[in-house]
Amino acid sequence: MTKSEELFERAKKSIPGGVNSPVRAFKSVGGTPIFMERAKGAYMYDADGMKYIDYINSWGPMILGHAYEPVVKAIQDKALQSTSFGAPTELEIEMAELIVSMAPNVDMVRMVSSGTEACMSALRLARGYTGRNKFIKFEGCYHGHADAFLVKAGSGVATFNIQTVPGVTAGVSMDTLTAPYNDLAAVQQLADEHKGEIAAIIIEPVAGNMGCIIPEPGFLEGLRTICDKEGIVFIFDEVMTGFRLAAGGAQERLGINADLVTYGKVIGGGMPVGAFGGKKEIMQHIAPLGNVSQAGTLSGNPIAMIAGYTMLTTLKENQSIYKELEDKTAYLYKGLDAVLSVANTPYVINRFGSMISVHFSDKPVNNFASAAAANNTLFNKLFHAMLDNGVYLPPSAFETWFISTALSMKDIDETVDILREFGIGNL
Ligand SMILES: *Cc1c(COP(=O)(O)O)cnc(C)c1O
Repeated sequence: MTKSEELFERAKKSIPGGVNSPVRAFKSVGGTPIFMERAKGAYMYDADGMKYIDYINSWGPMILGHAYEPVVKAIQDKALQSTSFGAPTELEIEMAELIVSMAPNVDMVRMVSSGTEACMSALRLARGYTGRNKFIKFEGCYHGHADAFLVKAGSGVATFNIQTVPGVTAGVSMDTLTAPYNDLAAVQQLADEHKGEIAAIIIEPVAGNMGCIIPEPGFLEGLRTICDKEGIVFIFDEVMTGFRLAAGGAQERLGINADLVTYGKVIGGGMPVGAFGGKKEIMQHIAPLGNVSQAGTLSGNPIAMIAGYTMLTTLKENQSIYKELEDKTAYLYKGLDAVLSVANTPYVINRFGSMISVHFSDKPVNNFASAAAANNTLFNKLFHAMLDNGVYLPPSAFETWFISTALSMKDIDETVDILREFGIGNL
């Protein structure tokens, strides 16, 4: 029995399913989750001392690699001045000013403690601002686990094949309208059918919770037009893409303006942080300035803020990082493509910036249905072959892989070699 297997058996007695977030349990790919002990740069080390090249990077936050020294040092220094006050600090202003300086269309920002909280609050604000109840989300997009979003919600929900979610009332789900990703006509139809009732359209501008799914030309532009015409608040969920696709996130990278934006993951440098922001006209409706309720005991926590502030400052001041991430991910794409093209199975590699995913499909993978129709049993075999040989991929075909700057070209060569030597036999 490995140490991870022992720990998993022990964990299951006191933690439901042995994990604190479902995707970690390896249920989709099968087998026992690997318990981690430490990580540095591009590598994670498990409880048995095995080393892995990391392609999830804590699901995005570790964009500069693990235990990035300036962030670690800043946390250590800050902790000596107390870990929380429950009163405002200058650092929170500096963080807000930094975000405003980096993100397009963000005049004001409110800090929270997770991406879930950010999306939940942004939706409430959109409803409060418009006085409307319904909203549109896309099949396979994940916006955290708030009740309203748990309808056709990608990764976690897709991985476990949960069709209806016990605990979410029909009343709540009734206000959640869904359309397939990249299907503008379906959105137009919903907008016509529910004229004057739709508060918001929320979307992952590049989706990462059904694998990496790229918006087709004109799709986001079309949504923007519908929102403008119908007085609908356009919410970009940039929890994954924010500060990853560019310093100004997907808005900057794709040249599309959102009305509200949500952040998480990279924004906290590995600490539990989320944020939502937008134009002053909308943001001023949040309490205590306005009457839309929103609060948090540990929101703007100094340790979380200094970690995020240090991370974002590094990204802002070194924008060549984005070119580096792009080059490394393109290099990985080339390597994977070269190996897979000689294997005896159809495949699709989707890549956008430093997000990439592999689907075993003979058709384009551009929405949830096509991602789900792929041969995901094959992906699961590939996952285990790579894991056994020291490459840690996301444990589900419905997740994007994340590249960090710590990953070297040599690491990528090694990954591709492992795929060629050990992974290909499974295909
Ligand atoms: C991870 C994620 C969330 C939820 O963030 P948490 O910090 O896990 O609550 C929301 N939206 C998107 C797009 C995400 O990837």
